[in-house]
Amino acid sequence: MSKIVIVGAGVGGLILAYELEGKGHEVTILEKNTKKGLSYDWYDDVENSVIDEFKIDLSKIRHFLKQDWAFIFPEVEKIIALSVPDEKKDISIHRRDLSTFLMERLKETTIDEGNAAKEAICKDGKVIGIKTNKGDVFGDLIVDCCGVDSFIRKSLPDEFGITKEIDEDDIFNVYRGFYKRTDAEKEEFTNKAYLRHLGRKGISWALDKEDHIDVLIGNAGKFTKSALDVSFEHLLETNKTLSSDLIESAVCRIPVRRPLEKMFANGYVALGDSACMTIPMLGSGIASSMRAGKILASVILEANGVYTEETLYPYQVRVAKRFGSIHAAIDVLKRWLLEEKPEAIAFFINREVVLKEDMQAAAEGKTIEIKTKDLLTRGFRGISKPGLMLKLAKVLSKQSKAQKLWFNIPKTYDAKSFEKWRKSSEKIFRK
Ligand SMILES: Cc1cc2nc3c(=O)[nH]c(=O)nc-3n(C[C@H](O)[C@H](O)[C@H](O)COP(=O)(O)OP(=O)(O)OC[C@H]3O[C@@H](n4cnc5c(N)ncnc54)[C@H](O)[C@@H]3O)c2cc1C
Repeated sequence: MSKIVIVGAGVGGLILAYELEGKGHEVTILEKNTKKGLSYDWYDDVENSVIDEFKIDLSKIRHFLKQDWAFIFPEVEKIIALSVPDEKKDISIHRRDLSTFLMERLKETTIDEGNAAKEAICKDGKVIGIKTNKGDVFGDLIVDCCGVDSFIRKSLPDEFGITKEIDEDDIFNVYRGFYKRTDAEKEEFTNKAYLRHLGRKGISWALDKEDHIDVLIGNAGKFTKSALDVSFEHLLETNKTLSSDLIESAVCRIPVRRPLEKMFANGYVALGDSACMTIPMLGSGIASSMRAGKILASVILEANGVYTEETLYPYQVRVAKRFGSIHAAIDVLKRWLLEEKPEAIAFFINREVVLKEDMQAAAEGKTIEIKTKDLLTRGFRGISKPGLMLKLAKVLSKQSKAQKLWFNIPKTYDAKSFEKWRKSSEKIFRK
């Protein structure tokens, strides 16, 4: 029997614990919050498919069908409104209900609430435990589910080769506020997302939830208070249902990049936001964190109690193949969308080089793929700006290169070939 210590009761860690129950391991989850205060008191969107995949009993969780998004770009002539038939719609799920459900179905796992990890304890090139506010905790494997700013990951020795500090531009700084709704009539579009809002490197949204308005204002990288205020003022001007009467608000950080090129070391793995597993364009990480939790459980069960770089390597490979390669491709696209001038993006949309179905794909966390025959038609529409068209072609080609590289990660562990792969990936994304 080995001792697995999961740090952070996020969705990834809770699925991992569930998958390990009854399989002969001693599993403990350390959580800095109380069990009652897990996750968030709001709704977020999640793929429908996770409900069956992770045996989630929706009767115990508040939820509703995801509303259709309408996208607004600066300088784009029209709003791009998606319309997904009900039977294909994903769901909006209450975050705390979901976490409570995932936690309460654990029968054998010990949950140590109010216990915050401070740093890793390492010996002879291996993580053997963690320092916490309640004292030192030791384990055969430490699973780091502490989110993007994980103290454990940040405290690892450099020679482990794991990215400790996530680049600020790869972090989405988010203000989320819930405001009282005015008496104004429902607008034509109730789920408005403002992409590159006011030209910023970020998005905002205003969602009419009938009894309140859900507002999000987010920025990749640093975000000033005045930029936040200006964005909110603009939301107020363009949403008659939004008032400035705040009910409650929160500030959070979400990673928006491909998964870490290396997320394992002797005695250590990173899971979920700590390993940057969100879809880079959307910041959605519930489904991928859960999937990674399940993958990790399978790798732990195969490792027979020995947690070395070699036995944990299949985790990196399976994550790369399951969703890492798609996320790497989307990361290329995201970088371009954030860096490109808003008027260039407007050109592609106004001239229908980028279409509604591409936005639909992006909203579902898929890559934008343009078939060769469509490329000709679309290229013709954008012919007045050949430089921009060439740039778009380069982005699409880089996207496919990143996807292939991640999908073709070396199958078996060999330090040299893995290092070569890692450097190739980092090179694609270097500024
Ligand atoms: C505003 C916002 C909107 C989002 N919208 C969506 C969405 O619509 N769809 C979607 O799929 N995803 C969304 N996400 C992202 C999603 O929340 C995360 O990707 C996902 O929850 C990551 O899961 P995780 O397993 O990494 O753990 P998390 O859910 O990040 O949980 C981490 C846990 O670790 C605990 N912890 C942290 N540090 C310590 C420590 N030092 N010691 C002990 N415990 C610690 C925390 O208290 C927490 O319980 C959103 C995130 C935010 C902030």
